[in-house]
Amino acid sequence: MTTTYDPSDPKYYEESDLREELGRVFELCHGCRMCFNYCDSFPMLFNFVDSKDQQHADLTPSEQDAVVDACFGCKICYVKCPYIPPHEWALDFPRLMLRAKAVRTTQHQSDIRSRVTDQVLAHTDAVGSLNQALSAVVNPIVSRPNTGIRRAIEKVAGVSSQRLLPSYGKVRFSRWFKDRLPRFIASPRASVSIFPTCFIEYMAPQIGADVTTVYESQDIVCSLPEGVKCCGAPWLHQGNVAEFTRQARANLERLDEVVQQGRDIIVSQPTCAYVVKRDYPIYVPGEQAERVAAHTFDPSEYLVNQMRKDRSMTLGKVELDEEVVFHAACHTQAQNTGLKGRDLLKKLGVKVRVVSKCSGIDGTWGYRSENAASSLRMSSALADQIAKTGSTTIAGDCHLANTAIDEALGVRVEHPISLVRKLMGLETQPPLKGN
Ligand code: SF4
Ligand code: SF4
Ligand code: SF4
Repeated sequence: MTTTYDPSDPKYYEESDLREELGRVFELCHGCRMCFNYCDSFPMLFNFVDSKDQQHADLTPSEQDAVVDACFGCKICYVKCPYIPPHEWALDFPRLMLRAKAVRTTQHQSDIRSRVTDQVLAHTDAVGSLNQALSAVVNPIVSRPNTGIRRAIEKVAGVSSQRLLPSYGKVRFSRWFKDRLPRFIASPRASVSIFPTCFIEYMAPQIGADVTTVYESQDIVCSLPEGVKCCGAPWLHQGNVAEFTRQARANLERLDEVVQQGRDIIVSQPTCAYVVKRDYPIYVPGEQAERVAAHTFDPSEYLVNQMRKDRSMTLGKVELDEEVVFHAACHTQAQNTGLKGRDLLKKLGVKVRVVSKCSGIDGTWGYRSENAASSLRMSSALADQIAKTGSTTIAGDCHLANTAIDEALGVRVEHPISLVRKLMGLETQPPLKGN
């Protein structure tokens, strides 16, 4: 029996060892049952065990696999579980699910269409740069579900035709960054490098521009790391450890150069920030990954930390008639740094109400056609909770969850830094019209 979640352990890819470990963990979870309402994985697991007269060991491989498939990797069960390492039970449910997906990938057990979907969703730089360049044509397609063309895409590529997909920016973030007139900063307070990841680079350049604008207003010098690519999360979440590790290594080389030059790294999408902080050190262990992880921050986290260090730093105070609803994204919670987007808004004097519920997108899981129905159910439950607050000003760290809320409620959800920029009355220069 191994309790290892270490991908370099020779037993990591042994199916018999994995099945035994699934049995061990399922038995513990069945006894505990705390996570019964986070997702479909746990109720399914409990039902299977109950139907076998409490004999967890009698679960068939296909029943175990169904539990794995229902996990979308939100990591909330890890955040809440009292038995995570260093507890003697060393239970890490989400990492066990990743291991099961990795074993399946090495055995080429997925069907052909699923593998096509994997490729489409994981080649984020290739797909992102093409779609951004063709944004005038692509945006009407991704932002209109249930059309003929979306159904055709679903048939071929397995990307759900029912979902509102994030649209693409009119300019790439790195283009905007190079074209802008940087604010002259006589006495820099700090220096950061903004790792845009695919979301900011291709889809949401406005968030990157807002981070830059707010930071420069606070005398924080901004730069871009050269030669970085997607963090690799889609590969990891599909179980393709080889591709993920290759991408992580390449990014780590570049990001470590930045850190060695004395700059911190800012990552705005919580999924990507989690990957750099938590997954890189596990899959590419060593000083380099540890150093990069220790110097990587969510943009609100970084600003709040700076304000704590330097009490003279202030964003000013604003009057806002209504409460801001702040969505606590799962991958922000999983970073275990607190809800710094909420804290930042509070520093401006804004009243904030937190809504904490998964959007059911989690990377790319909710966009796959086979998961769309479950994911939409979760997105609607989140949207219902937000709608009940009656507030129309909504903020959240995760661009995907924000898109899902927009899909359900038809309201634009802002990244907290974007809202801060607006409330402070700052303009991005040049403006990013239509992004
Ligand atoms: S993951 Fe932990 S908290 Fe959740 S059901 Fe299993 S043992 Fe309980
Ligand atoms: S990571 Fe999220 S989706 Fe996966 S089992 Fe845990 S709570 Fe469920
Ligand atoms: S996890 Fe981040 S960098 Fe990776 S594909 Fe998603 S957005 Fe892009």
